[in-house]
Amino acid sequence: MSNEESRAPIKNRSQDSKTKTVRDIGEFGLISRIAKRSGKADASVLTGIGDDAAVISTREYGAMLVTTDSLVEDIHFRRYHPPEALGWKALCVNISDIAAMGGIPRYYLLSLSLPSDLSLDYLDQFCLGMDGAAERYGLSLIGGDTTSSDKIYISLTVLGGASGRVLLRNGARPGDAIFVTGTLGDSALGLKIMEELGIGNLEAGAKSDDPQVATRNQLISRHLRPTPRVDEGMLLAKSGMVTSMIDISDGLLADLGHICEESKVGAMVSVEKIPLSKGFEDVSERYGGIDLALSGGEDYELLFTVRGEHVATFFDGIKGMKCTRVGEIVEGNEIELGENGVRRIPEKRGFEHFKG
Ligand code: ADP
Ligand code: MG
Repeated sequence: MSNEESRAPIKNRSQDSKTKTVRDIGEFGLISRIAKRSGKADASVLTGIGDDAAVISTREYGAMLVTTDSLVEDIHFRRYHPPEALGWKALCVNISDIAAMGGIPRYYLLSLSLPSDLSLDYLDQFCLGMDGAAERYGLSLIGGDTTSSDKIYISLTVLGGASGRVLLRNGARPGDAIFVTGTLGDSALGLKIMEELGIGNLEAGAKSDDPQVATRNQLISRHLRPTPRVDEGMLLAKSGMVTSMIDISDGLLADLGHICEESKVGAMVSVEKIPLSKGFEDVSERYGGIDLALSGGEDYELLFTVRGEHVATFFDGIKGMKCTRVGEIVEGNEIELGENGVRRIPEKRGFEHFKG
């Protein structure tokens, strides 16, 4: 695992990082600055950053899991979002994909395209957030690529090992119960609140003791600093009772749609059963209400299915893990919503690039 002493003390920001930009240090200065700010790679990394390719020993695992995801400025984030949170999120959304297979995240590669006039302070804060996530979830940075560009493009590749059975999207069958971890909709609601406030108020609000502001900040933080469900994913893989799993990145209905397509089944979701946080219940009405939990996206909770007859045993095996049964898998290919005894087919499932 990572070694705290190897991390550069960038919490005390150096003066020149505020005035200098990435142009001042160039591509190779940039690579070594990133490398210095990431924890020491663990012993399974035989050759890390600095050669043409990284060399890792895969002896620990029967199967390797590999995933990649990009974050693009003005599509996924704005320049005013705190760069430390952006670094955390960029890595965590990829970690979440490994969690969704029931895997253990282990290594990551970082491809960065940055504008030349970006301040070193922004870069350092970004690295601080990303390294924080790497340390928290036990990952080593093993390489990447660096180029200049007009906007910020972040592309991450995460490699992980299988912890038990690898959980795919295609094993759901009619009669299976549908579960989600945590609560849904907070991230989408946090984004709406953040966009309404703008950056000035965001920073001012962070220091307040006002309970309304605290709720607001909690929701915003669910958007900016998601928690990938790694331990939960591993526990679910080990339980041997999960038939399919996915992480909720596009929204509950959209991601349930992916399970349904791959498994060739339909689903029935009880709207009343969707787990909501207290903060969500308090303030969501004005911003779109329950639709945010159904199709808002970026929750990074796990959505999974369990055979109906195994549900009781399943709960015994996952003691203490917070998850909620929200529906059933059915025959067909539709997703239906049930609310107050009325059934309906949702108009929109969730976010899809190019369709806005
Ligand atoms: P090459 O020309 O052989 O592709 P590069 O000059 O692009 O090599 O990269 C040199 C080394 O630095 C490689 O080990 C590469 O993986 C690593 N590297 C490049 N960019 C990054 C980055 N943004 N983060 C981490 N490692 C990086
Ligand atoms: Mg290269």
